[in-house]
Amino acid sequence: MSALEFARPASLAQALALHAQAPVQQDSDGCMWLAGGQSLLAAMKLGMASPARLIDLQDLPGLREIGEQDQSLSIGAMATHAAVAASDLVKRWAPGLELLAGGIADEQVRQMGTLGGSLAHNDPAACWPAGVLAAGATLVTDQRQIAANDYFQGLYTTALRPGELILGVRFPRLQGLRYLKFEQPASRFALVGVAVARAMDGSVRVAVTGLGLGVVRWPQAEQALGRDFSLQALQGLVTDDLQALTDLHASADYRRHLAGVLTARCVSALGGGSLPQHAPLAARQRPAAPVQHSVETVPDDGFGGAQVLAAAPFQVWQTLLDAGALRDSIPGCESLVQTRADAYEATVKVGLGPLSVRFKSEVLLSDLLPPQSLTLVLRGNAGAMGSGQGQARVRLEPLNGQTRLHWWVQVQLSGRLAQFGNRLVEATARKLAGEFFERMGRALSSGQIPPSLQTAPWWRRLIRFFFPSSGK
Ligand SMILES: Cc1cc2nc3c(=O)[nH]c(=O)nc-3n(C[C@H](O)[C@H](O)[C@H](O)COP(=O)(O)OP(=O)(O)OC[C@H]3O[C@@H](n4cnc5c(N)ncnc54)[C@H](O)[C@@H]3O)c2cc1C
Repeated sequence: MSALEFARPASLAQALALHAQAPVQQDSDGCMWLAGGQSLLAAMKLGMASPARLIDLQDLPGLREIGEQDQSLSIGAMATHAAVAASDLVKRWAPGLELLAGGIADEQVRQMGTLGGSLAHNDPAACWPAGVLAAGATLVTDQRQIAANDYFQGLYTTALRPGELILGVRFPRLQGLRYLKFEQPASRFALVGVAVARAMDGSVRVAVTGLGLGVVRWPQAEQALGRDFSLQALQGLVTDDLQALTDLHASADYRRHLAGVLTARCVSALGGGSLPQHAPLAARQRPAAPVQHSVETVPDDGFGGAQVLAAAPFQVWQTLLDAGALRDSIPGCESLVQTRADAYEATVKVGLGPLSVRFKSEVLLSDLLPPQSLTLVLRGNAGAMGSGQGQARVRLEPLNGQTRLHWWVQVQLSGRLAQFGNRLVEATARKLAGEFFERMGRALSSGQIPPSLQTAPWWRRLIRFFFPSSGK
């Protein structure tokens, strides 16, 4: 762990002042709140979070309270999972929420881990996000109130602004809530977890965690169950409307299958009918489409996607090979220099919520077929954390003056990074690829790209060779 300042303020005003006055230090993650330390300390020990100042919330008055407020159930951000699990008030207001809290991790983690810490961290397989989203709760921070619908924004990403402190969560009264997960035997995190909540007015909300990119609602199931809260209502549903990821623990199809099974079990537990033992899946998957053996078929050991960009393939190709445009488009890119005609060196900080890793990377270009396809070979070194290597293949397809860009990525981590990061590789790479193409798309449509293109004459010659009439 790197050196840091530690403070344990005794009042909210003091805590906020300490945060506001924290020194800005390069190569650090600035000032961070510390709740029970169940995620943050592990990340710090692995070198994936390096706060310059840590503000411990343990002594702040009032943040552990569970009470009734403004016709809602109010749970303080520092309430531990164990405290919520044991609360009679929680059982009365939102019957079943206490079971969610009691099923998190093990007794030690439940005694330390907090509601606020879990929601701020927003692990894509965590239990609380599903319960809070299904219940239609509201987060109260030092600055505002945020509806759960607006709060969860994908992988480790929330609506919290830098330094914003969660004070507590308000839950409406519910007829009942059931959360069931298919858990990792080691951590008890959800491989997939489903929360179904019935509001007092009969409406139903269904939230699914563990699919890959963070908690999501399942609108089709909500509508069906809102009309008829029974297992029969789930019969026609297809789970492939849910976006899921494949990783080393489970395939996307298996995750969707589990979402269907667990939803049915939640409905049954909430009085929607009894499931026969070894019940077949209520919601089913569409039969798999036959595999298309084309250029963009994604090999088993990688993953990919496609993106439409508002520029012709030729312009997209130029942008992909331009150092300035690349630097602006790569999320977290701190520097990028061209070292050879076909090679770059880059320093990229990959951040996921409180976690961050700085890679010194070498990028080699190969298999260039302008303006159709290319391969990027990546080698990244994160010092004591380990290293990563991979390749990205890109293919450009003309589409009425625009371009559909197909990408496929394969990444391997080694060292400590593999230990901590493998679960997150695909989700992270997808998120970064999405951001990369979004930035590139914005730059292309706003015409920001061309000036820096002067810097790469070698590929201009290539393009002229292949497309003498392009005039570029
Ligand atoms: C072995 C193990 C098994 C686990 N299994 C499960 C499981 O089955 N299901 C599950 O859901 N979770 C599980 N967890 C996670 C656990 O539930 C913790 O609640 C979660 O890690 C958050 O920890 P914490 O409350 O101690 O927050 P910390 O680790 O202290 O903080 C986490 C992050 O939240 C920020 N933060 C903390 N409090 C606030 C606040 N009030 N406002 C704004 N930001 C804040 C911190 O700055 C940090 O970025 C497991 C953890 C471990 C170690």
